[in-house]
Amino acid sequence: MSFPARMAQALEARRAAAGWRQRRLVTHNDTRTLEVEGKSYRHFSSNDYLGLSQHPAVIAGWRQGAPGAGASGHVTGYSRCHAELESQLADWLGYSRALLFISGFAANQAVVHLLAQKQDRLIADRLAHASLLDAASHTPAELRRFHHNNVDSLTQRLASSCSGETLVITEGIFSMDGDSAPLAAIAAATRRADGWLLVDDAHGIGVVGEQGRGSCWQQDVRPDLLVVTFGKAFGVSGAALLCDDATADYFLQFSRHLIYSTAMPPAQASALLAALGEIQRGDALRQRLQDNIQRFRTGAAGLPWSLMPSASAIQPLIVGENGAALALSQRLAQAGCWVSAIRPPTVPPGTARLRITLTAAHRPDDIDALLEALHDAAGE
Ligand SMILES: *Cc1c(COP(=O)(O)O)cnc(C)c1O
Repeated sequence: MSFPARMAQALEARRAAAGWRQRRLVTHNDTRTLEVEGKSYRHFSSNDYLGLSQHPAVIAGWRQGAPGAGASGHVTGYSRCHAELESQLADWLGYSRALLFISGFAANQAVVHLLAQKQDRLIADRLAHASLLDAASHTPAELRRFHHNNVDSLTQRLASSCSGETLVITEGIFSMDGDSAPLAAIAAATRRADGWLLVDDAHGIGVVGEQGRGSCWQQDVRPDLLVVTFGKAFGVSGAALLCDDATADYFLQFSRHLIYSTAMPPAQASALLAALGEIQRGDALRQRLQDNIQRFRTGAAGLPWSLMPSASAIQPLIVGENGAALALSQRLAQAGCWVSAIRPPTVPPGTARLRITLTAAHRPDDIDALLEALHDAAGE
């Protein structure tokens, strides 16, 4: 089939399945409110969980750095603020080293691609992020998936024989379900099988654990490889891999994602240093977020759509069919609340949902307005 014919067929199928993805033009976004095409909404689809994208210190940090690194970190792109950020991240999270990447997607691709060779096996939670599963399925290693957060299922996969190395892959807090992985049990099972553990804590870092050190710290687990991302609670963008000295050296020598890509802008590293400081002294922000989560869950108890067992800022309401999820999202928008519908293939078929996210920037009346709109929609 020709490229145009193939594209036309795929687009037609997507339209027919009510799966069409539409970008909307955002004309203002301050985490609490979102203006889309000129109309203002209370914003319940932001991953800026602590509201740091709006923080004066983070904005000031951004203004202190150059807008472009000018080269890869291996050429002339590695500056004092990159070095300082790496060193502070490593100290804060209890690792020898941290390496910066321009995005979480890039970091996950880099880690999985560089480690996985023929004869190895990658054993990943079925709901792991697309950046992890895509990377894993494109390596010469065998990819096996275990049932979501199910340690028995993981142990079963680990019991089969393997002549190479084993890398177990999971997340701290899952992006579409909001639940936490049982990291201690996963780490123990991985250690028994002589494997390495990779945890992507995109949604836990900054939000949970002492000083916001994330899911691993909270559960007293130290994975061999920890990926943290900065596009969520840090309110900026980018990512880091935390690891030991030998692993960091290996990545610096061989990771094509680091060698052949322009380093993170110095402005971004400088903003991230400021965000890290706010996160470390961010107990009040984390408390405000927890209060908002509690207020939402209490008020949502009687709704006809099931809440997930999530204690995190991600509070999905499972609707089921794509069309119904879209209709509910539109109904909430009419009531002034912006909540994105998430449909397959991002989530499993038949589990289309509203992915409600709460932040420290919300006020109690924002949460109450959302609850009222949901109860009204349920009554119709
Ligand atoms: C958002 C996300 C990523 C991708 O990070 P970016 O920095 O946005 O590229 C990776 N993993 C998980 C679990 C995520 O939620």
